[in-house]
Amino acid sequence: MGATKAAKVGNSNNGRSHNDGDYTKYKIVTIGSHSALQILYGAKQEGFQTLCICEKGREEPYKSYKVADKIIMVDKFGDTVKLQKQLLGENAILIPHGTFFEAFGIESIEKLKVPYFGNKGVLKWEADRMLQREWLKRAGLTLPKIYEKPEDIDGPVIVKFYGARGGKGFFLARSAEEFYRKIKGRKAKEEVRAYIIQEYIIGAPIYIHYFYSPITNELEVMSFDKRYESNVDSIGRIAAKDQLDLGLETSYNITGNVPVVVRESLLPEIFRMGEAVVKASRTLNGDGKGIYGPFSLETVITPELKFFVFEISARIVAGTNLYMNGSPYTDIRYGEPMSTGRRIAREIKAAIAQKKLSKILN
Ligand code: AMP
Repeated sequence: MGATKAAKVGNSNNGRSHNDGDYTKYKIVTIGSHSALQILYGAKQEGFQTLCICEKGREEPYKSYKVADKIIMVDKFGDTVKLQKQLLGENAILIPHGTFFEAFGIESIEKLKVPYFGNKGVLKWEADRMLQREWLKRAGLTLPKIYEKPEDIDGPVIVKFYGARGGKGFFLARSAEEFYRKIKGRKAKEEVRAYIIQEYIIGAPIYIHYFYSPITNELEVMSFDKRYESNVDSIGRIAAKDQLDLGLETSYNITGNVPVVVRESLLPEIFRMGEAVVKASRTLNGDGKGIYGPFSLETVITPELKFFVFEISARIVAGTNLYMNGSPYTDIRYGEPMSTGRRIAREIKAAIAQKKLSKILN
């Protein structure tokens, strides 16, 4: 959406959305899953009204933690598109997260009329693994190699399935023979359709949580996490001999997140990578706007302390839920509890005050 059209969001049309610099007229809205607690809690900390759209049977946390001033129940999250008129009337600003993308898909997100925090133009660059690689390469980052066909495998690889939720079913292989043997078992299951064969990088996985502000033109490093995955993170509790006897296969189904601080001398490179990603994102669509708000680089750091980036998430990631009260890094910068969710709300508040909503809403 161009600037003129987006400007309407803050200055027009349903009678209540005239942007007179008063943020209390707006409601921060998201769907109840993923990082909604953090987003809504952060919005409340900034003084916003909040609204949570909950799927029947999944509403309890949002009631219990009292993060939502209003809850709207739907049979399934996808039904939210039918609520658009109501949401426009509520002066809603939608905050997307992982479940949001799963529930709607990019096409319906692109068509949403309700003001949306983030640049919809970069979504397809995140969703398509090949376009994503192109983006990260333009940023000059080091990526794991992709093997065109199983016969090319000449070292450890991780086989990933498109659309797999949280790494479910991924497996490791070292040769074409092992690849074919393992994929056969997987193919029996519905989940396997398309896959990529990616070089497996031995090292420490670190997920970097960034925030880029088009209001201050600054990149912030908010926090870090690593994942807690089933069963890969519990296999180490079983003796190697038993692992073999049990015929265990590794899977990477995410169950939670673990906090990390990084060796301080890695921070300059972490800032450099984030800045390069923001700069490269401005070349993606021709609108020059690029990515803004929260995003994450998923990396593995080798023993030589080299970063390999295997994925980008162009949105808030669930690892930031660790820091609902701020991280050690945001503590230094802000001196008050500053989660990524709260940072989003603060950005919106600043944009409203400076009459720059069109810069951050789509
Ligand atoms: P993903 O779902 O892509 O985030 O990956 C699931 C898990 O696989 C995470 O624990 C990652 O750390 C790990 N992983 C993904 N890609 C690679 C890679 N190329 N090399 C090493 N580990 C990886």
